[in-house]
Amino acid sequence: MSDNPQPLGGNETPRFGGIATFMRLPATSSPEDLDVAVVGVPFDIGTSNRPGARFGPRGIREESVLLRPYNMATRAAPFDSLRIDDVGDVATNPYNLADSIGRITAHFEELLRHDLVTVAMGGDHTIVLPILRAMAAKHGPVGLVHIDAHTDINDTMFGEKIAHGTPFRRAVEEGLLDGPRVVQIGMRGTGYAADDFDWSREQGFRVVQVEECWHLSLDPLMAEVRDQLGEGPVYLSFDIDGLDPSFAPGTGTPEIAGLTTIQALEIIRGCRGLDLVGCDLVEVAPVYDASGATSLTAANMLYEMLCVLPGVEYRK
Ligand code: MN
Ligand code: MN
Repeated sequence: MSDNPQPLGGNETPRFGGIATFMRLPATSSPEDLDVAVVGVPFDIGTSNRPGARFGPRGIREESVLLRPYNMATRAAPFDSLRIDDVGDVATNPYNLADSIGRITAHFEELLRHDLVTVAMGGDHTIVLPILRAMAAKHGPVGLVHIDAHTDINDTMFGEKIAHGTPFRRAVEEGLLDGPRVVQIGMRGTGYAADDFDWSREQGFRVVQVEECWHLSLDPLMAEVRDQLGEGPVYLSFDIDGLDPSFAPGTGTPEIAGLTTIQALEIIRGCRGLDLVGCDLVEVAPVYDASGATSLTAANMLYEMLCVLPGVEYRK
């Protein structure tokens, strides 16, 4: 065991008590000495349909109190080898999308001045654009593992260039992504035209439509993804609507016949060995999530991301 702070255990203070930081980790506003900063981005004015993802960070923090520090399946003990705190939320501007984007970029650039990995709780998927701007400023163009029902490569939505369905088109235009090192997994549903997915393929992305995943383990896919993404920096972006709505109903743009929770675990665990420089979990809207299952699932997915970050040690 190291001196790193561990999540507060359920036998020290009851799980339903105390301040609901992510996994009951220490809350800190200073990123110095951190290996990982868990950060909330409460923002949803980029949504096209049901709003509510501004409450995602709070919902995820609330359900994350159930999580324990040791991964029984993979034997990862992320808090032993890494110092991980909940650094709070970006002060987004609920009246101004463009100003919020600038605030998110500035916030992540400040965090990334330190030698740490950011793990973001959204917020709608618009937030990945300002985060990727900060990532690319530090690391150069990054590889991407993108789990989603949607490719999010629209040119515009209602004439707007920045919205939750456009971030990866903007990221390509701005040179933030390394196209041949991008994979999008879980795409499905109705579209406007074949271009909704084919534009991604034209950029060199691998697009894995959900039908290729049905009834299958995704372990073989992830072996191919590790080969495709190789050694360079990688960002992991997980839109909760990549999961089937039976697992994750609390989101703004649900699509039927999605990935299972088990497949999502296979994808995240399959990222072990990649040089992950940042992660996010977006589009959780607790107001449509009567049981809390979506936030609970999101909290578990974020924990699994912590378990595959570079430097995590695995206990015997
Ligand atoms: Mn998305
Ligand atoms: Mn989506």
